[in-house]
Amino acid sequence: MICARCNKPIERDEPSEKVEHYGGTGVGATMDVHARPCRPAPQQTYPTPPIRY
Ligand SMILES: [Zn+2]
Repeated sequence: MICARCNKPIERDEPSEKVEHYGGTGVGATMDVHARPCRPAPQQTYPTPPIRY
């Protein structure tokens, strides 16, 4: 899968977590991100989920 924050692949043995993202319509979407903080990709096509430390 692809990390929604940095747009890099999340390997099978790499810890990841799911984050809920709610758009303006109230429809929630679940995205996968690296469990550890990673740098957001320079170009973004959608809002970045907040980084939780
Ligand atoms: Zn990432």
